[in-house]
Amino acid sequence: MEKTYKCYYSNCQFGGRVSASEAVQSGKSRYHKSCLQQKDMIAKIREYYFKNIKPSDTIITVNKVINVLIFDKKVDADFLYFVLTVIFRDKLKIHNAFGLYYYVNNFKIIQEYENHLQRKQKIQQQQNVLNLDLTQSWGCTPCSQTFEINENPPKKGWGKIYGGDS
Ligand SMILES: [Zn+2]
Repeated sequence: MEKTYKCYYSNCQFGGRVSASEAVQSGKSRYHKSCLQQKDMIAKIREYYFKNIKPSDTIITVNKVINVLIFDKKVDADFLYFVLTVIFRDKLKIHNAFGLYYYVNNFKIIQEYENHLQRKQKIQQQQNVLNLDLTQSWGCTPCSQTFEINENPPKKGWGKIYGGDS
């Protein structure tokens, strides 16, 4: 049986044990990749909130709101961070962290986030095309993914990707 470790994230999303092949290390502790990402993102959210939104708010309130949103209401941590950046950018009114309950349901912000994700995905696809290893044979997962999703494949070198003559 594969060796497992304790995932040191107190809100582990997978029952607390992580297999050796899946584990990522931070400091001396091991985590599931997405557990570590969530842990880091929550720390980033807290820091951003106190730095840019309401420095006078209490840590208890902020932690409570973050926990309710992410663990009870299953709001994506990346989205919550995005909401904070919009509040800061647009100087939106917020009296304390409880105001975040309202803003995570704000239609305009949700829509902007979706557009933001789409743009990000497009950029990643373009990067995939640029990073494409031309020596790989046709049909491998990264190549076919890029081919299916990308509507405007690069004209140069396309023949090489197919493994035929250009
Ligand atoms: Zn975990």
